Amino acid sequence: MTSLTPETTNPHGGHTLEAMSALWSGELRSHGRRVTKQRLAVLAAVHGHPHSTAEEIVQHVREDLPTITVQSIYVVLADLTAIEMLRKFQPPGTPGLYETRTDDNHHHAFCIRCGRVEDVDCSVGEAPCLTPSESHGMTVLSADIVYRAICADCAAREAAEQESSSGPTAAVAP
Ligand SMILES: [Zn+2]
Ligand SMILES: [Zn+2]
Repeated sequence: MTSLTPETTNPHGGHTLEAMSALWSGELRSHGRRVTKQRLAVLAAVHGHPHSTAEEIVQHVREDLPTITVQSIYVVLADLTAIEMLRKFQPPGTPGLYETRTDDNHHHAFCIRCGRVEDVDCSVGEAPCLTPSESHGMTVLSADIVYRAICADCAAREAAEQESSSGPTAAVAP
C-alpha cells in the first residue's frame, strides 16, 4: 500500500485534488447529483487508491470523514458506478474493485497469486478492442479483459522457493 497522503497528485496525470474536485463537481451536477462532501470524499479515495475494494474505500474515506456510515459509502459507490463516474470490475476471487478511470476502454492484468492489479491500455486504441468470433446478433460496445497473470514478485518468490526445496543442501539441522 502507498502512503496515506496520495491526495495531492493523480497517479495518471498531475492534477491536484482541487482540480479533480472541480471536475467531479461539474460531472455530478451534469448527472443531476448534488455535490456533497461524501461524494467527493468517495471519489478522492478511489482516485488515490485505484482498484480498491469497497471495504478498503471505507477505510480511506473514514480518514477524511470519520462519522460517515459504511452503508452510505456503499450507496454512494453504487450510485457513482451507475452514472459511470466510477467503474467496478471483478477479477476472479475478488468482491469487485473500483476505479475512477472510466473514460477509456482499458483492461487489467491480475496476479492470481497476490491479487495485484495493473491497468493495461486498450490493445487497438479504441473500443471494443477485441472483435468477438461470434456476436450472437448483439451490438458489441466494449471488451473488458482480465489478463490472468503472475506478477514478477510472485514469480521470483516461487522460483526461490523451488530452488530451496530442491537444492541439495536445503536441510536445516534441528
Ligand atoms: Zn503477485
Ligand atoms: Zn484500471
